[in-house]
Amino acid sequence: MTNTTPDIRAIAAVHEAEKQQGRWAAAQIRDLAKFAGCRPPGRPGIKLADGAPEEVAATLHMSIRVATNRILEADYIVRRLPATLIALEEGTIDIARVRATCQITKPLSDEDARRVEEAVLAQGPHATYQEYRRALRRQAMKVDPEAAERKRKQREEQRDVVTRKSEDGSGKLVATMLAGEVEAAYNVLNHLAYRARTPNDTRTLAQRRADVLVDLVLGRNRERVQANINVTVPLSTLIGLNDKPGELSEYGPITAEQCRELARNGALRRLVTDDFGHLLDVSPYRYAAQGLANRIRMRDRKCRQPGCPVSERRCEIHTKSEGTGRRQRRRERDYRLMCKRHRLMHERAKGWILAQPEPDRVVFVTPTAQVRQVVAERFEEPAA
Ligand SMILES: [Zn+2]
Repeated sequence: MTNTTPDIRAIAAVHEAEKQQGRWAAAQIRDLAKFAGCRPPGRPGIKLADGAPEEVAATLHMSIRVATNRILEADYIVRRLPATLIALEEGTIDIARVRATCQITKPLSDEDARRVEEAVLAQGPHATYQEYRRALRRQAMKVDPEAAERKRKQREEQRDVVTRKSEDGSGKLVATMLAGEVEAAYNVLNHLAYRARTPNDTRTLAQRRADVLVDLVLGRNRERVQANINVTVPLSTLIGLNDKPGELSEYGPITAEQCRELARNGALRRLVTDDFGHLLDVSPYRYAAQGLANRIRMRDRKCRQPGCPVSERRCEIHTKSEGTGRRQRRRERDYRLMCKRHRLMHERAKGWILAQPEPDRVVFVTPTAQVRQVVAERFEEPAA
């Protein structure tokens, strides 16, 4: 630590504080569960003893409802997710990831919940919270495909359109639809909004999106466009051999039955993989420029900068060999997806180093010498 600079010390302190927060959160979870154990329910039909949540609420200055949830959650984590609690203690994952694990494993049996937590923890903390959640959902669908399918059917029944009025003269129209339809409808709106732009149009894309939706609903727009969304389906699922989950672009894992339903829908682009998550429909050796671009988009699916959620649709293909002028054999590992902001950041900010030893693995070295490896999310998790 002799020749460290203030920025290195500051970022190390930030990291350490984050790990300490995890340690304290884990300790509090253990103690809340202990407290619940000291106050067993005194009569049948209740989960917590009379007065126990009130004691916690009074101590921590919180509502009784929040206190109840915190005690039940602590008890659940200690009982069902011991490995997740240890990972929180060790600073590998944060409390948000622990809560996501609780929520997603809730419908599963004790044994299945443990299988899900172990499989996901074995893959590390993942680049972002959303990726961690998707990994959990993918594993939960794998260990109990029927539960996931039942849940989806329930959700399907809840589809609806509601209004949210506000007092400032505007309002919201909120539609709950099936995942595939949400993506498709949004893509159509975006497409029409791009086309609706007139010369000297001062409206933003967002405003035009709202305008074309109103026109469509009220019958002022007769134009019909094809939705363009990607569903990735393992071949074995498509032909009904098993119930492996697939993926919907920008949404994440979906159940096997939903894959088959979506794959039958001609408006969607279907990508078929083998059981190890490799795309079957694009050969790496036979690429036209567009084929390679598509393959890179499908491989990365979002900006490769750690923590950036910007999806493939709003990313550019970035390469370090840009502008060399020499005709060279283009390889997948020379390219990666970057959103505009991060492509510019790597041009402007000093001290970042990027290396891409394998097509789907990018190594980032930050100016304070932190090393982060980002592996593109696979369509299929490798077998644990
Ligand atoms: Zn980005």
